[in-house]
Amino acid sequence: MDQQLETQIIARGKEFFKSISGEAPSIFNKGWWTGKVMDWAMKNEDFKIQLFRFVDVLPYLNTSESLARHIREYFSGDGMDVPAVLKFSANATGIGGAITGKLMGSTIRSQIEGMGRQFIIGENVKEAMKGFVKLRKDNFAFTVDLLGEATVSEEESDAYALGYHEVVDALAKEYQKWKPLPGNGPHKDFDWGSSPKANFSIKPSALYSQAKPVDQDTAVEHIYRRLAPLYRKIKAVEGFLCIDMEQVKYQDITIDLYKRLRSDPEFRDYPHIGVVLQAYRTDVQHTAEQLIGWAKAEKLPIAIRLVKGAYWDYETLMAKQCGWPIPVWTHKPESDIAYEKAARTILENHAWVYFSCGSHNVRTISAVMEIAKSLGVPEDRYEFQVLYGMGEPVRKGLLNVAGRVRLYCPYGDLIPGMAYLVRRLLENTANESFLRQSFADGAELERLLENPEITLKRELKQKDAEAKAKAERLAAQGLTPKSDLFPPFANEPFIDFTVATNRQGFTDAIAQIRKTAGRTLPLFIGGKDVTASETLPTTNPAKPSELIANVCQAGRPEIDAAIAAATAAFPAWRDTPAEERAQYLHKAAAVARRRMFEFSAMQVLEVGKQWDQAYHDVGEGIDFLEYYARDILRLAPPRRMGRAPGEWNHLFYQPKGIAAVIAPWNFPFAIAIGMVSAAIVTGNPVIFKPSSIASAIGYNLVEVFKEVGLPPGVFNYCPGRSAVMGDYLIEHQAISLIAFTGSMDVGLHIVERAAKVQPGQAQVKRVIAEMGGKNAIIIDDDADLDEAVPQVLYSAFGFQGQKCSACSRVIVLDSIYDKFTSRLKQAVQSIDIGPAEIPQNFMGPVADASLQKNIIAAIAVAESEGKVLVKRDNLPAEGAYVPLLIVEGIAPKHRTAQEEIFGPVLAVMRAKNFDQALELAMSTRFALTGAVFTRSPNNMEKARKNFRVGNLYLNKGTAGAMVERQPFGGFMMSGVGSKTGGPDYLLQFMDPRVVTENTMRRGFTPIAEDDDWI
Ligand SMILES: Cc1cc2nc3c(=O)[nH]c(=O)nc-3n(C[C@H](O)[C@H](O)[C@H](O)COP(=O)(O)OP(=O)(O)OC[C@H]3O[C@@H](n4cnc5c(N)ncnc54)[C@H](O)[C@@H]3O)c2cc1C
Repeated sequence: MDQQLETQIIARGKEFFKSISGEAPSIFNKGWWTGKVMDWAMKNEDFKIQLFRFVDVLPYLNTSESLARHIREYFSGDGMDVPAVLKFSANATGIGGAITGKLMGSTIRSQIEGMGRQFIIGENVKEAMKGFVKLRKDNFAFTVDLLGEATVSEEESDAYALGYHEVVDALAKEYQKWKPLPGNGPHKDFDWGSSPKANFSIKPSALYSQAKPVDQDTAVEHIYRRLAPLYRKIKAVEGFLCIDMEQVKYQDITIDLYKRLRSDPEFRDYPHIGVVLQAYRTDVQHTAEQLIGWAKAEKLPIAIRLVKGAYWDYETLMAKQCGWPIPVWTHKPESDIAYEKAARTILENHAWVYFSCGSHNVRTISAVMEIAKSLGVPEDRYEFQVLYGMGEPVRKGLLNVAGRVRLYCPYGDLIPGMAYLVRRLLENTANESFLRQSFADGAELERLLENPEITLKRELKQKDAEAKAKAERLAAQGLTPKSDLFPPFANEPFIDFTVATNRQGFTDAIAQIRKTAGRTLPLFIGGKDVTASETLPTTNPAKPSELIANVCQAGRPEIDAAIAAATAAFPAWRDTPAEERAQYLHKAAAVARRRMFEFSAMQVLEVGKQWDQAYHDVGEGIDFLEYYARDILRLAPPRRMGRAPGEWNHLFYQPKGIAAVIAPWNFPFAIAIGMVSAAIVTGNPVIFKPSSIASAIGYNLVEVFKEVGLPPGVFNYCPGRSAVMGDYLIEHQAISLIAFTGSMDVGLHIVERAAKVQPGQAQVKRVIAEMGGKNAIIIDDDADLDEAVPQVLYSAFGFQGQKCSACSRVIVLDSIYDKFTSRLKQAVQSIDIGPAEIPQNFMGPVADASLQKNIIAAIAVAESEGKVLVKRDNLPAEGAYVPLLIVEGIAPKHRTAQEEIFGPVLAVMRAKNFDQALELAMSTRFALTGAVFTRSPNNMEKARKNFRVGNLYLNKGTAGAMVERQPFGGFMMSGVGSKTGGPDYLLQFMDPRVVTENTMRRGFTPIAEDDDWI
């Protein structure tokens, strides 16, 4: 730490505060409604959550009735601590009758909209222009940002780009009339002599609705196509463009895009383009150095705006949910330290980089000023930026001490404006916020200006002590999970495609699979490879001429052999300790993890599954292995029942016997290994029949179990034609248990066949059958469509709609119907269709040509029953493709509303109100998954109670259940049996037994500690 510099930073900070003493940002001004409400929100976490959620939904509340209802639902809850201003209004909506309610509602609306306007320069170009003129009069420069970056379709991306063209055109007419802001730089027409007067900031992801990290080149290409013309126009008006930085998933795309634009021959000699870097990212220093290195190598001056970052909560939550390392610092002072360090690096390179310091933190700003001074950086090489409407005293202080201040000015509609407002409110009211600490909490000056390295040391010490105390508390309550054999269960991480090696991993693995394609895969019976005379080819559905493998087919003799091997293996396997059986699963998980890319690539080629979904399928398979390995340890030890002295009762489980596992092709690894591993770990040998569409993937199970050395006969791989050996297997007298996942028709057939007792059969067969669904998503009138549209798209058409959890009906409330369907239609028209091995494609072929016929027939029925909203039938010429279809006007009486299609067909139904939507949702024989998009707390509660399906998702799509977190499975015609990946699943593979011992001899009995004794 440079002590002299440190002293100067603190002195500068004190001077800064002195120049604004007595002032507070309007958001914290308690003389105003906003200030009062913010004050209350910061004291009451529950109220804060309700308030911010209410702000978020407000633009959707178009009638006084729905406004009043939401006020009641959000603020009149039991035990909610509500500030008088809102409580009065909220109660009035219920008690005071319609007129009072209306008035109160509109008062609250206008107050909140006013709060939103505080952060927005205008709702249209005209208002924005007026605002800019005013700002410039006050000596502030500006950068303009158009709200509404959540684009879900290419039409919306076009509209977003057009919005920017409009504002550039409007500014072009005006800005030349403006006198430049005074300064010492060399360009007389520029503000401060250094910076173009017209300055624009843009969120790049909005310019391509389909941008995804798995295919960065395509994303960059598409964004470039819309951004280059805009930049051309900005260049023509001698303006500046800054490319904002969004979530981590877009960072590489954004930097690539920046480099491409900056180095394009057309723009090389125009340096007025910048990019944002975020100091809260743990790799910010590296990113900054790389970018500067690039600028020097290319001999191209660049511009960087350094901020801390606006998505801290999102990034942390996502990383936690996906099992990724957290990409941002986790202690606030770490972000501050990283900021000062990166700022120094940028300033040291001022010859190459024009620097914009984007912060409201007086310590950070003072550090930048003093570092710049100590390095002798010319004033025309850096400026300061703050957000419009945030920390007004800071901007004033900055103007006093630095002169060169630019305000970041969003403009646009209030609907996206409210989402922006929520982000700003969160930022301002966070405990960690400098503005809150300075102007609301009144923290000591010394603390506010303290070197963040010192703050960090103190915080770490305090957090350590807190963590220790928490661990002790949990241990005392017995809540700390422990297993002597394995570490605690954790889901397999999702794949992070921002990591280049992950993208390469797929490409390599696909090429590798192709090298071994065409081999003959044997059966595996009694621990040995067994060839059969008959083989069946399995092919790539995107290219039917491409052979994946020839798979040996089991007939009746092979089934007999497998059953004989399983019968021989059963006694020893049954008596193998549960810990040992669990170890096999744990080792199998390790093998699958090692071969993750290869197994995933096999799914891309054999069933046409998209990269991410194929990877998650293998990941889910690993989760089943790890979860069941742990769960058997919970279930295996005998449990004492009752506490009567003189008697010991022990309940324990034994395996049922030989299990037939009949697996589907849609989750060809996960579901197959889930059923197989549950049977094996509970002590049942298995005859495994994969689907003929996915038997090469099925063979991956053989490879896994061979490597872990399961005893011969415990796992037998018997692919074969259903017509030849399907019924023979399920009817076999030696089979005790059938685990099946697939269609309702086949499931019911199995239930029926298994019920008939065969000669020599020793026990009633148990059937666990996971069957179909006709899953609905309800779109309430207050749903967030930015979320609902992409989630419906993914739930309905992800993996071509071939998931039992897929959404096949979307039920939309009348008042939002047109808005939702038009956005959904545009979104569907924006996706790419083609082979799954090309990651740009959202939808691929169905898994096999044999499935095409049924889907096409169902499409014809749907078209005759309803009105086509979208039909995507511009399909690749080769491959098992079917059109993507959305039909509206569907009612419960229609076949399209009742029959499972297992393809990309979505029925849209219209409902008058939420109750009717629930009725429609429940109007089928299935009960598998369902979802509701709503921001009404009451309707969420109604759905919890009355939307009776196995897995219900609130504000989330219907697909993607995770082991342990969302145990999966339905009832009614969706299945018999209990949820996979949950605590009841293994029980179905066992029979419970109880042994009672009378411990009393001649009136004497040893008394155990847990006896109910005197
Ligand atoms: C002109 C301008 C342009 C902007 N453009 C962008 C942009 O393109 N992309 C973008 O992401 N943001 C952008 N922002 C928003 C900016 O990220 C936030 O306003 C900024 O992070 C607030 O930091 P601060 O220094 O003002 O306040 P401070 O109160 O000092 O810092 C708050 C910040 O610290 C970080 N933080 C909070 N808690 C923790 C924690 N527990 N551990 C580690 N770090 C934590 C977060 O980044 C948080 O925003 C911009 C801001 C301005 C002023």
